[in-house]
Amino acid sequence: MITEFQNEPFTDFSVKANEDAMNAALKLVRSKLGQDYPLHINGQAVETEKKLSSTNPSNPSEIVGNFSQASVKEADDAMSAAVTAFETWKTVCPQKRARHLFKAAAIMRRRKFEFSAWLVVEIGKNWAEADGDVAEAIDFCEFYAREMIRLSGPQPLTPSLGEENELQYIPLGVGLVVPPWNFPLAILVGMTTAAIVAGNTVILKPSSETPGIAYQFYKVMEETGLPKGVLNFLPGPGSSVGDHLVQNAKTRFIAFTGSKEVGLRINELAAKPQKGQLWIKRVIAEMGGKDSIVVDDSADIDSAVDGIVASAFGFQGQKCSACSRAIIHANVYDEVLKKVVEKTKKLQLGSPEKKETNMGPVASKSQYASVKEYIEIGSKEGKLETGGGAGSFATDGKDGFYIEPTIISGIDPMARISQEEIFGPVLAFIKAKDWSDALKIANNTEFGLTGAVYSGNRDNLEQARREFHVGNLYINRKCTGALVGVHPFGGFNMSGTDSKAGGRDYLLLFTQAKSIAEKY
Ligand code: NAP
Repeated sequence: MITEFQNEPFTDFSVKANEDAMNAALKLVRSKLGQDYPLHINGQAVETEKKLSSTNPSNPSEIVGNFSQASVKEADDAMSAAVTAFETWKTVCPQKRARHLFKAAAIMRRRKFEFSAWLVVEIGKNWAEADGDVAEAIDFCEFYAREMIRLSGPQPLTPSLGEENELQYIPLGVGLVVPPWNFPLAILVGMTTAAIVAGNTVILKPSSETPGIAYQFYKVMEETGLPKGVLNFLPGPGSSVGDHLVQNAKTRFIAFTGSKEVGLRINELAAKPQKGQLWIKRVIAEMGGKDSIVVDDSADIDSAVDGIVASAFGFQGQKCSACSRAIIHANVYDEVLKKVVEKTKKLQLGSPEKKETNMGPVASKSQYASVKEYIEIGSKEGKLETGGGAGSFATDGKDGFYIEPTIISGIDPMARISQEEIFGPVLAFIKAKDWSDALKIANNTEFGLTGAVYSGNRDNLEQARREFHVGNLYINRKCTGALVGVHPFGGFNMSGTDSKAGGRDYLLLFTQAKSIAEKY
């Protein structure tokens, strides 16, 4: 019997056995660093001449792995394999497809510490953040497997005399899956497994920052016995291989999560029909955010301070849901700012391989340069309260791409660091005249992903429910940490297509509904 979905519990690293297991997993992963990895097309390993090395952001000279890079030729081979595999995979019963996901979840659960260790080493997550990423990946498998079974059952229709009526959710075809590096396991697994369990075949082009963790997941799916060609692993540059596949006439849909710029480009390219194309391509695009926490003068201040610090600096602020603006009622602005700065100063910046580390490095050299530039801009737009530097690490990123948690106060709502996504550990403090003004500021960007409000006033909370225009609104809690099944996730406006990953509507995006009526 398939039991009811439950979220994967987080690991308690204060338990000695868990701490030991994590250290052992880090040792295991360290022993595998620097290996070469092929593409996988139609179940076959394919080596290419062009390689890309994935490196450790805590120690940029350390190579995590060397990955064969696809060119347009391998992309076309992957498309042929996926097109062929679709003809049989679409006929496999949903229950059987779901079992591949149940098995993938079981394998990742057994190897949870190892997967976390890959995330620590390849992208600089601390232990808790890495564990959360793995738990979410497991949740997506468990949740979408059950969802497909639910959708494959009889769907409620209005009876019509003399007819038998039925609605079936059938797959779309070949999908291109393009994940970001910031949840390089969870988001990749979510988009890939949703597509596969719905009966589609997939070309997976991982982020060039994190092909290592993507490869580990590819091998898990292989271990579940997935037929060849259903999932094709195709690392390669987004700008060439990505563009090429987005424009391919055989691509039926694109599931993308990443920046606004790339998402809009994909949407535009996909909209133009190619010679021989039979369908309107579907684009599922989840993009950037500029997320705010709004604090009222009636709020529980200490709880708001905890929520702001956790949301702003978890995984170095590199979450689409990260709080990058604290919008505070004038009456409590000074108190909240003082307490947030105090708490932030206590965060430990250091190697994510150490259990006690709160914040590791940012993801890459380009991230480092871009965040530093925003700190410079922000320091001119407001007052640098704390951070801005690299702590005890080299300021050129040689020791790792470390950036201190940074707070800049006195920011105008229209300032650049209040409007543009920074995607790093930089928090802008903005003073609001009153509650209505605070909500107005919260809605003043082109994004609409997450947001949180802290207030003890029922009328103000109701106003926030009505007016705060975000896909995921949190009340009296932090604005990060959406759970599969609990908080279906997706943003409004330029934050994306509001796909609500981890929700009951999500799989519909990977299917088309066929209505069948037979008159007797
Ligand atoms: P990105 O630069 O947009 O890259 C995302 C993916 O797109 C990568 O795999 C990238 O491949 C690929 N890509 C680049 N150019 C492409 C093209 N022309 N055609 C097809 N694919 C292309 O984003 P990122 O830096 O990885 O991730 C950070 C962004 O993701 C932030 O804006 C963040 O807010 C957003 N995000 C949103 C959500 C959400 O749910 N809304 C969740 C997580 C992250 P290469 O690496 O090879 O360039």
